[in-house]
Amino acid sequence: MSKYKIETKCIQSGYEPGNGEPRVLPIYQSTTFKYSSSEQMGRLFDLEESGYFYTRLQNPTNDAVAAKICDLEGGAAGMLTSSGQAASFYAIMNIAQAGDHIVCASALYGGTYNLYAHTIRRMGIEATFVDPECTPEELNAAFRDNTKAVFGESVANPALVVLDFEKFAQAAHAHGVPFIVDNTFATPINCRPFEWGADIVTHSTTKYMDGHASCVGGAIVDSGNFDWEAHAEKFPGLTQPDETYHGIVYTQRFGKGAYITKATAQLMRDLGSIQSPQNAFLLNIGLETLHLRMPRHCENALKAAKYLKGHEKVAWVNHPSLEGDKYYDLAKKYMPGGTCGVLTFGLKGGRDAAVRMMDSLKMIAIVTHVADARSCVLHPASHTHRQMNDTELLEAGVQPDLIRFSVGIENIEDIIADLEQALLHV
Ligand SMILES: *Cc1c(COP(=O)(O)O)cnc(C)c1O
Repeated sequence: MSKYKIETKCIQSGYEPGNGEPRVLPIYQSTTFKYSSSEQMGRLFDLEESGYFYTRLQNPTNDAVAAKICDLEGGAAGMLTSSGQAASFYAIMNIAQAGDHIVCASALYGGTYNLYAHTIRRMGIEATFVDPECTPEELNAAFRDNTKAVFGESVANPALVVLDFEKFAQAAHAHGVPFIVDNTFATPINCRPFEWGADIVTHSTTKYMDGHASCVGGAIVDSGNFDWEAHAEKFPGLTQPDETYHGIVYTQRFGKGAYITKATAQLMRDLGSIQSPQNAFLLNIGLETLHLRMPRHCENALKAAKYLKGHEKVAWVNHPSLEGDKYYDLAKKYMPGGTCGVLTFGLKGGRDAAVRMMDSLKMIAIVTHVADARSCVLHPASHTHRQMNDTELLEAGVQPDLIRFSVGIENIEDIIADLEQALLHV
């Protein structure tokens, strides 16, 4: 971890050119890397030496960007993935297998819910979803002997529930398993989950990190803090010999890099969800301004939330930085500088009014995306979460009339003017 402040890390971390080398991180647009001896190449394949040989495993552009994200989170090792979904999948698959179980806070991104509730279940891994506001006793009751991880989102998309990090970290650690946090919405600018007990962080870099809606991508960062060997019987994949690498033991050989090395050497090798170096290059440019964009997103979202709250046609507004919000106190504790640029609201006219208002917006677009420079809206019940029934929707914290509003970094007066004219049509 560098000693720089977070703003400096956004610019400087991950890539340090040598004398006469390009000042800007180059795109290593090469699938493969050349060696002059067959012996050396062999040692790379055995993980006895570190070096590049095939971009599915590692690529210098991707590694530099992963190192920057790792530094922003204050972690020990990191990797990029092709998408946030791939990051959520790998984060669990790296430590759980058929017959295992995980505990998740139920307020989750729709894609993550599907992945954990259905897809990994077909692979034999079961998930228990707990109310994020459960008591510590209820949370403890969700654990089983075969539980391998606890998962939650720092600020849930789109429920905007702020995770009670300390409660979940305590339960995870009391049961000898790591606490994994999806920090997509808060970003490391607003929240550092490792400082509150998280062991592993995942990201959809598609959102604020890229920031311009240009590249789908993901990342996983390991704090290096979880002691796999203290719970060796639960995590044989990390603490027992890997026969596909001549019996190396990841925790013994790689220490704090064990989890990420295993995810790269096994999961990326076999499943291949890599980020393209071109996308990593663009992501890196996004990261350079993350510390400037996040405060503006948050400022605009709070102003838009206050405007909507005061409007006669608006029934309710949720934004964790809005005073009086259910999650205001948790937000103040875990992300005092701001939460995210996303808010949700409902209109007194319900679902039909929501659709009419959205169709009347001129600058603010209806898109599936969220968390980029341009303001946009979405109706989760008819879009991202449409595969869920009403019970599942409510469990995920999504009311049927909820409009998700991702407030961009345009001038706030233009954003509010567009809301105002659209509300005239309701
Ligand atoms: C979008 C999103 C994901 C999935 O990421 P993709 O890059 O779209 O695969 C996961 N978690 C959260 C919180 C998200 O917002």
